[in-house]
Amino acid sequence: MKFGNLEIWKFGNNYSTGNNRTNNSQLPNFPISQFPNFPISNCSTWNNGDCFLTHTTKQTHAIIRDNLHNSALYGGDITGTGARYCPSLEDKVVKFPDRDSHHVFIEPESADPALNLAYPNGLSCSLPEDVQIAMVRSVPGLEKAEISSYAYAIEYDFYDARDLFPSLESKLVPGLFLAGQVNGTTGYEEAAAQGFVAGVNAVRKTRQMSPFILSRNEAYIGVMIDDLVTKGTNEPYRMFTSRAERRLLLSQNSARFRLLPHAGEIGVIDPEYAAETESFISVMEKEIRRLDTERVRGQPLSALLGDPDTKYASLPGALTLPSDLADEIEYRIRYRGYIVHEERQAAELLRQERTKIPASLDYATLTTLRHEAREKLTRIRPDNIGMASRIPGITPADIAILAVAVKKANQLA
Ligand SMILES: Cc1cc2nc3c(=O)[nH]c(=O)nc-3n(C[C@H](O)[C@H](O)[C@H](O)COP(=O)(O)OP(=O)(O)OC[C@H]3O[C@@H](n4cnc5c(N)ncnc54)[C@H](O)[C@@H]3O)c2cc1C
Repeated sequence: MKFGNLEIWKFGNNYSTGNNRTNNSQLPNFPISQFPNFPISNCSTWNNGDCFLTHTTKQTHAIIRDNLHNSALYGGDITGTGARYCPSLEDKVVKFPDRDSHHVFIEPESADPALNLAYPNGLSCSLPEDVQIAMVRSVPGLEKAEISSYAYAIEYDFYDARDLFPSLESKLVPGLFLAGQVNGTTGYEEAAAQGFVAGVNAVRKTRQMSPFILSRNEAYIGVMIDDLVTKGTNEPYRMFTSRAERRLLLSQNSARFRLLPHAGEIGVIDPEYAAETESFISVMEKEIRRLDTERVRGQPLSALLGDPDTKYASLPGALTLPSDLADEIEYRIRYRGYIVHEERQAAELLRQERTKIPASLDYATLTTLRHEAREKLTRIRPDNIGMASRIPGITPADIAILAVAVKKANQLA
């Protein structure tokens, strides 16, 4: 059965884990615990274990260069496009020949010191086992390392996600939902996020409910799925914050508040947590109103937060609030002008996304549309005008023509 455009897409990624008997005492400590803690919600936990920093050496690079012909990625066994953002050490040595050192973070994998297992982040490769041992031991601090799992590379097939609706249901096989690497992505979070959306939507379909779709303005999940189903991908897709156009609306601190209505609607939130979040929202809104109205030396208290060094807690009458709430108040006030600007753009996008394109619309009959636009719209069959406007090669003029045609079609329906 054909349920999408199967591409024999090759992807080499690689992984090396577990060096016991690392000699961390020689290495500079990389103090993760001193970095700010950014849990997405209070349900998350945070591992405060410290990491260590070391570097590859000239000897490491010589070992790699001497054995490139034995590497799966460079020896010809794997030929496909690799993940641009997860280069293997072979890649780094080949692409940056002027560098004789790359950093390696030693990330402890267990809190149990007796286990002494660590992930050497930066040493991923697709080299034979004996070469991996020599390479790892050429790195300061790892001279006595044993390898508990060797690095490896894989290739995988994927489907063109433009054959999916934004619900992740196949356009070709109703009731089939695809998520994760099979849609051309790479990464744990990318797969998990799509799996969640596809799972929710599969259940909703069986209950005859409308699909659960997060927009680009609400969540990075929305940005990723919209990118995939609208533009497809020509290399392993990773989610980056830079792919979102309105990042101020997607700050990590606001996830709890921003996604509350969706979490409630699909029933994945603990009622107590939901009630607490709602009370936080009302405290925050009330407090922002107070800061806008109460004045000191002729200016509203909120104006004092324009100074990045001023903290909410230092303002007259500040409440004793959890730090994430105080941070959110500062953020909403400090960046208000930009946030309002992004909210206006988001409202326009929402308007376009609410204008659904009838599934039966025959683009071939829209002769005023450019041939290229007709072809692309027929290929992708966007769900709404917003999505149509993001298809590469579709111009604002095409959208104006399409909007008129959609209006007519909706009037006739
Ligand atoms: C070596 C390596 C290192 C990586 N390192 C990282 C990393 O550090 N960080 C990161 O974010 N990502 C990393 N990735 C990428 C990440 O692991 C994958 O993108 C992600 O796990 C894909 O998840 P998935 O659920 O889409 O697919 P998979 O995890 O591949 O799950 C698919 C499952 O389907 C099963 N299956 C296949 N066919 C059938 C069938 N016919 N019937 C039943 N079951 C079937 C498979 O056995 C498998 O269990 C790495 C990948 C590799 C290979």
